[in-house]
Amino acid sequence: MVIRTKILATIGPASGSTDRLCRLFEAGCDACRINFSHGSDEQRDECLGNIRAVEQQLGQPIAVCGDLCGPKIRVGMMAAGGAQLDAGAETAIVRQAVDGTAWRFSTTLPELIEEAAVGETICLDDGQIKLEVIATDPPESIRCKVVRGGRLTSGKGVNLPQTDLSLSALTEKDRRDAAWIAQRDFDYVALSFVRHAEDVRQLRQILQDHGSEAHIIAKIEKPRAVENIDAILEAADAVMVARGDLGVEMDLPAVPVAQKRIAARAQQAGKPCIIATQMLESMIAQATPTRAEVNDVANAVLDHADAVMLSGETAVGRYPVEAVTVMNETVDAIQGYHDEIDAGPRVTYIDSPTTAAIARAVREIIQHEDIAAVAVHTATGATARMLARNRLPCPILALSPSPQAVRRMVLYYGVIPRQVDRTPQHTRDVLGRAERIACRLGIARDGERIVVVSGRPLGQPGCTNTLVVHRVGCGDGE
Ligand code: PEP
Repeated sequence: MVIRTKILATIGPASGSTDRLCRLFEAGCDACRINFSHGSDEQRDECLGNIRAVEQQLGQPIAVCGDLCGPKIRVGMMAAGGAQLDAGAETAIVRQAVDGTAWRFSTTLPELIEEAAVGETICLDDGQIKLEVIATDPPESIRCKVVRGGRLTSGKGVNLPQTDLSLSALTEKDRRDAAWIAQRDFDYVALSFVRHAEDVRQLRQILQDHGSEAHIIAKIEKPRAVENIDAILEAADAVMVARGDLGVEMDLPAVPVAQKRIAARAQQAGKPCIIATQMLESMIAQATPTRAEVNDVANAVLDHADAVMLSGETAVGRYPVEAVTVMNETVDAIQGYHDEIDAGPRVTYIDSPTTAAIARAVREIIQHEDIAAVAVHTATGATARMLARNRLPCPILALSPSPQAVRRMVLYYGVIPRQVDRTPQHTRDVLGRAERIACRLGIARDGERIVVVSGRPLGQPGCTNTLVVHRVGCGDGE
């Protein structure tokens, strides 16, 4: 069975060699994330080169995403490697860089002193340590009470969930990294700590100024982004539920609800949704996952994720190939149940009545007849995205002459993209080509039927208007 939920793996020291990458893809990985929070430009160049070599070797398109760090605030240097902050004690955050102790420490954002207000919470080390601001003394320091204690070490993350920081979502480093990405073969750029649609538009401008058409994944990891989700979905090409920071910025029990709402809004908007972070966290150190982790992956599929993501599991973990295998087996095992309980598209089309009619007709046909696959000829990938949005219970073979569109479609639910050398002249050429490729990939056999969707004039974006039910091997459409 073709597995329709995609797997996005973060590539790092544990997975960046061509040999390891091959094994990840053989285990079911579909796309790669390169995290700009770690490593050097040279290492990232080597990693990208290895991914493209594996793409050639396996003959399968691979989507690559560069993930910008965003304005992540970190604890400054701590003396003697770290200090214990005890619950109930007081500590100060100071503007000047100091060797931190339990009584005072600095962060990578000196302006934090002016922005945090009395009564607000400051979370350190992914929320392991919690402070409450009790007095401000700008411009030099703020005093805090330790609400939840723990050992604080250099470089740990700092989150201010209640503070509306005036920081831009794009730091100087992000702007440099975005320009670097734009000059290379990346398909997606992920933007961290998005709050407003305007953050996405700024990144789009930088990419365009450098001649890149890479698509943008808005990482939803702040409560403000959850509030602004519809505008962000309109500006972005895809979203990621980045549960690492989201789980620090909002109460942890609220995260599953946010995940479900974001995924539903994304499906309605027809934009891919990636669910990320700690999906198989224990597999960083162990060869088998916990029951809860497997459940989490399965539930992400039921929430209508287009893709599920692995982070440390594949970047630095001891069992990267095993983690992809478990994830692949889990999405495979839940797929049939998903189809069984999926009551049909919850999406409404406000954009194009013809597209809506075709999408509904495709789903209707598949529900009542034996159809092996849907095939689509698409210039930009938009028609494949429209079909993926309907969560069809069969694979969608998407053919395009654009290598960029082909790689982008790798992240779409159920879509198997393949590049074709040119736009066909007639609908019958689309049918012939679709059946040949579908048979070669093993998603349709002689005598089976496929639904073929295309648009006339062929190759022109936005013209989807043709649907043919075609018996493989028969030549003409029925
Ligand atoms: C996250 O916070 O969940 C996330 C995916 O972002 P990062 O890996 O950059 O922390």
